[in-house]
Amino acid sequence: MRELVEISEEIKKCRACNLSKFRKNPVPGSGGFRKKVLLIGEAPGFYEDLKGEPFVGAAGKFLDELLSIAGLGREDVFITNVVKCRPPNNRRPTSQEIEKCKRFLDKQIEILKPRVIITLGDVALNYMLKKLKLKRRSISQIHGTPFNLLTYVWIPTYHPAAALHNPKKKEEILEDWKKIKLILEKNER
Ligand code: URA
Repeated sequence: MRELVEISEEIKKCRACNLSKFRKNPVPGSGGFRKKVLLIGEAPGFYEDLKGEPFVGAAGKFLDELLSIAGLGREDVFITNVVKCRPPNNRRPTSQEIEKCKRFLDKQIEILKPRVIITLGDVALNYMLKKLKLKRRSISQIHGTPFNLLTYVWIPTYHPAAALHNPKKKEEILEDWKKIKLILEKNER
């Protein structure tokens, strides 16, 4: 999609916040989007910054497992993040960085017109709550609950990294992705 490439070019030129000074590569997002599913993470980490691709580290490996539970592969989904450049030491992006960067994600959603949006973790959850003007909720309250919106279904879930050192969380995440499979089947068009 030409417009998507134009956004990636804009992201590469962006110097709106200090993260651009530390990055090796910005990570605009990638994927095939065959099933019109958009995944939104937090921000690139060490390996994503090296490669310029989202979810290529340990969390990405687990994400591939989760995608396969839902009957999806990378060619079916577009994966991006709220913030497109790596925060130093993988710290959480600040609210100023999110404010500066979110226009790119807004535009990507406008261009892609996803059928389903799956948010990974609470940075992406808060982005969606704000965008939809919904009251604050915690991820533990609403993970795995679909929001049927006018043009897409939104499903918040935990960030795959949350499972890496927490077996109980891992169980909850696996359950969420089994639900996601059913939601996707119900919304197949
Ligand atoms: N964590 C994220 O939120 N995004 C990535 O791309 C990688 C790890």
